[in-house]
Amino acid sequence: MDVPMARTQSPDDLIVEAAAIVTVDPGWRILSPGYIAVKDRRISALGPAAEGRLRSAKRRVEAPRAFLMPGMVNTHTHISMAAFRGACEDIPNRLTKVIFPLERDLVTRDLTYWSALYCLAEMARSGTTTFADMYYFEDEVAKATDKAGLRAILGETVLGHAAPDAPEGYGGIDYARNFIRDWDGHPRIEPCLAPHAPYTVDAEHLAQIVREAEKLDVKIMMHVAEMDFEHEKFSRLGGSVLRYLDSIPGLLSPRLLAVHMLYLDDADINLAAQRGLRVAHCPASNAKSGRLICPASRLQSAGVPLGLATDGPLSGNGMDMQGVLNLFPKMQKVREGRRDIVTAREAVRAATLGGAEALGLDGDIGSLEIGKKADFILVDLDDFNIQPVYDWYSTIVYAMRPHNVISVYIDGDEVVAQRRMTGFDQDEVFRRMGQIADDCAKYISRISPA
Ligand SMILES: [Zn+2]
Repeated sequence: MDVPMARTQSPDDLIVEAAAIVTVDPGWRILSPGYIAVKDRRISALGPAAEGRLRSAKRRVEAPRAFLMPGMVNTHTHISMAAFRGACEDIPNRLTKVIFPLERDLVTRDLTYWSALYCLAEMARSGTTTFADMYYFEDEVAKATDKAGLRAILGETVLGHAAPDAPEGYGGIDYARNFIRDWDGHPRIEPCLAPHAPYTVDAEHLAQIVREAEKLDVKIMMHVAEMDFEHEKFSRLGGSVLRYLDSIPGLLSPRLLAVHMLYLDDADINLAAQRGLRVAHCPASNAKSGRLICPASRLQSAGVPLGLATDGPLSGNGMDMQGVLNLFPKMQKVREGRRDIVTAREAVRAATLGGAEALGLDGDIGSLEIGKKADFILVDLDDFNIQPVYDWYSTIVYAMRPHNVISVYIDGDEVVAQRRMTGFDQDEVFRRMGQIADDCAKYISRISPA
């Protein structure tokens, strides 16, 4: 039972009072009006607003025209591709025709760092507090993430051919080893291994990566069952991408975050559940690529932890979670031909606690409960797009937009205050990105179709 604290107790570091607190806890509690208290970077109390007024705090924020919810979790990104957003759209086989050459020729340490900061501003200002990223020069992404104050799992990408940061095929494995060593133990950043995909990393090297991950005790993230050509290759032989990956010892396990998971049959869904896989579902980038819709609600029903993701700025364009949160239930309803599937409440869970489960961080984040890390966002209720509110979950999924987010707290620190980043000069990042985009423009216009 929640008991009002006496003023004699040592003060909380922060108390935020809001019109409503959407907790996403096991009882789906909504405290309206409510308060949340933070001490030593974790949630020390939460309850009805009147109870919060009995507690003492070093800092108190009153937001009677805003609601508070867990920070959103973006389970798959390539944030340093912000420099390429909008380039070469609508081209078949874009990955091999455009993206790989573009990256080979344009991706540098400098571009990786500034594009990452640029994207971090977009993500944080729209309410994302945790994300999972894979790219090249991932140490630059880590530096930017540290500066911005977000929480992340970051994977150095491994490719079987030359990569922007590794001239030899599979050079990413050595790069990843150093990256993991350098960032191990950071309070908000967890380094990991990121083999690109089953069609760019062979079985022998996937097995090596599993051994490496087990030795270093880190996670693995990989694009899985995303491409039609790999699906066709394996289904011709009577199998599937997932069943092929199951032949690699230890790969299909709770250590693996499988991204996309589009080409799955019922046997694959059962296999994913049996092996304890976790899934990052990217509805916007999948829709844009014209491929299948991930059987996300079927994976969830089978017990597979599933989170939502934007994918990178070139594949998914918008890096705010509202875009995919809005699309997720709609696409599942279309896929299954049922209006009652994936309720707004279930969708909110997927964007918060479901994402935390997919990243193996649900003990610390994803819902607002005492003892969890203080990652939450304040959302403005005074806007034309958001009123009236009859059902908080419907409002979050279908009405809320990125510009409604006012403040973002991570570990109790205000990373976004009044819609501005506090960790860096966002105007400088905007300027640097303009210069980088100018440098990329000539190259992109040369490779773009007439
Ligand atoms: Zn991706």
